[in-house]
Amino acid sequence: MKAARFHQHGGPEVLRYEDAPEPKPNPGEVLVRVKACALNHLDIWVRQGIPAYQVPLPHIGGCDVAGVVERVGGEGTELKPGDRVFIAPGLSCWRCEFCLRGQDNLCVAYRILGAQVDGGLAEFVKVPALNVIPIPGALSFEQAAAFPLTAVTAWHMLFGLARLQPAEDVLVLAAGSGVGSMAVQMAKAAGARVITTVGSDDKVAKASGLGADVVLNHTRESIADGVKGAD
Ligand SMILES: [Zn+2]
Repeated sequence: MKAARFHQHGGPEVLRYEDAPEPKPNPGEVLVRVKACALNHLDIWVRQGIPAYQVPLPHIGGCDVAGVVERVGGEGTELKPGDRVFIAPGLSCWRCEFCLRGQDNLCVAYRILGAQVDGGLAEFVKVPALNVIPIPGALSFEQAAAFPLTAVTAWHMLFGLARLQPAEDVLVLAAGSGVGSMAVQMAKAAGARVITTVGSDDKVAKASGLGADVVLNHTRESIADGVKGAD
């Protein structure tokens, strides 16, 4: 298959579009034919070689993937070839005390697709069947690939750490960012009052459109004053 790989860490110039072995799905895994793979800042950090993400080289990045089921390894899943799917990028064992408690990010086996294991900047990617989710409704592959990792991060911050409850106020910095735009929508859907910030006036309407109740342009007003004055 073709893949965008790097054999050494560095800038964009280390990326090579080249042939790579097609992954072989083991029992419990699914081979997905990639239709869309979004870019996340994590792709840049991994390519540059930050110490937190040690990867064997050559490496295929790409954390946010949507595509079509190509092949299923073994039994035990209702997924079948041709299914339109996207991939939850957090890979874990699903059996340890942390996974069973819903804290899979604390699993000793926790990996992020495209960071510690080969990702979706390729024709095919293999992942555990438990991470493969049918694309809901009429979402395009590009739309389905746009949000998985930012959604994981935003969810963890809002509900795992902050334990946001309905009717609470929440401040989301940077509604124009990937995590910020997802957090605004999740917090609104959870029934919170959402205060958010943007860096230019043309983003105000977009932030409101995502569901923000109060939008502060931090280039023109103090965030602290704006939050205290919000009613
Ligand atoms: Zn686990």
